[in-house]
Amino acid sequence: DKRVTIIGAGLAGCEAAWQLAQRNIPVRLCEMRPEQMTPAHKTGNFAELVCSNSLRSDRLENAVGLLKEEMRLLDSLIMQAADHARVPAGGALAVDREDFSGFITARLSEHPMVEVAYGECTELPEGPVIIAAGPLASDALGEVIARNLKLERMHFFDAAAPIVLKESLNMDIIFPASRYGRGEDYLNCPMTEEQYFAFYEALIHAQEAPVHGFEDQKVFEGCMPVEVMAKRGPQTLAYGPLKPIGLRDPRTGARPYAVVQLRQDDREGRLYNLVGFQTHLKFGEQKRVFSMIPGLENAEFVRYGVMHRNTYIHSPGVLSAHYQMLARPDVFFAGQITGVEGYVESAASGLVAGRGMAAYLLDEPVPEFGDITAIGALGHYVSSYAGSDFQPMNANFGIMRPLEKRIRNKKEKNLAIAQRALEHIKTLV
Ligand code: FAD
Repeated sequence: DKRVTIIGAGLAGCEAAWQLAQRNIPVRLCEMRPEQMTPAHKTGNFAELVCSNSLRSDRLENAVGLLKEEMRLLDSLIMQAADHARVPAGGALAVDREDFSGFITARLSEHPMVEVAYGECTELPEGPVIIAAGPLASDALGEVIARNLKLERMHFFDAAAPIVLKESLNMDIIFPASRYGRGEDYLNCPMTEEQYFAFYEALIHAQEAPVHGFEDQKVFEGCMPVEVMAKRGPQTLAYGPLKPIGLRDPRTGARPYAVVQLRQDDREGRLYNLVGFQTHLKFGEQKRVFSMIPGLENAEFVRYGVMHRNTYIHSPGVLSAHYQMLARPDVFFAGQITGVEGYVESAASGLVAGRGMAAYLLDEPVPEFGDITAIGALGHYVSSYAGSDFQPMNANFGIMRPLEKRIRNKKEKNLAIAQRALEHIKTLV
């Protein structure tokens, strides 16, 4: 029986399912939602985006932009959905989250090679399996991974930003603009120096929601709560997510002291999220403190920010570069649970695991993505990291093999790396 069970219909599981199904390998896709929810998901849709609606840069000189282009060439379902559900976001690829996950749910549910099984998976299924249960994998599954597969689990914290309703915003204060005059995709809340410091004071003294059950309160740098960042110093936010660079308030003609940016969250433009405002303040405190942001005085919060445990296995030495368990070749892992970090990265590892599983079952050679592609470099990194502190990793040029010849200009260098990668990918399509 060549049927593959995939545990988790998230970003990674859906991509893996698509890659297998498109190669005529039957898939049983198991998803516990909506019957059992995770602390961050809100719907029963496949591939729900739990926080930001941005899949980050869409430019080739950026590693995650390259990763997306590689995935497009490799017939990624997640990228088809993203391009279909795109909303304006400057040089980034942001999506309407309903359209995005709706597209993926429909394409997989109607696929003749895919059987969807709803309900929590609490045992290791018979036959080939891809474990793609995400950073919020259910406790029962976590037990299975520890007991049956003898794998060590680790964790860090991750946080989501609040979302506000556009019609509740004060557009007499807020102005639309992207940095450096590149369009009008963001809504900008300008702050004077006085307003910034009043906000900063309120933020660092606001009450945090309790986080239970963790000895070391390890916070992941890539998704750091805004209040934690603020506590690093009075200017940290002004030089970080609230930097006013490239923005002028059209009403004063001047650059504000600081700016909170809001990014469109749905296709209709009714919802906006607060960029960089991942938080785990208590809900009442979020309303009180974030309403101090000019233009948000009467903002209606349709979702508050939340903070969660994020679990992953210690992949180095355990998985191959295509996410296959060295000790159990019929078991693959995919997604954030392998130690890749991010929506696109999770989907990318699902793509590689799906291709790897297909090759394993069909007795064909595994596609060698290597470390000259962004997609291959991730698998390479998580499987062969040699240090003592294995941490989740985003796509970046630093984990890819350097060019043979030296190019000084950073953008030109990155574009040359991208070109080399895309040429290699074309041989693996
Ligand atoms: P998921 O997309 O979580 O998919 C796993 C699926 O498995 C879920 O649908 C779940 O319901 C299901 N499942 C779990 N256990 C079982 C079981 N026992 N049986 C059946 N089904 C099961 N990344 C970004 O790029 N940008 C962000 O803004 C961002 N914000 C994040 C915020 C939070 C709070 C968290 C936790 C993570 C965030 N991430 C973000 C990181 C990461 O990109 C996402 O978690 C991403 O969804 C990971 O994809 P995945 O496929 O590995 O897992």
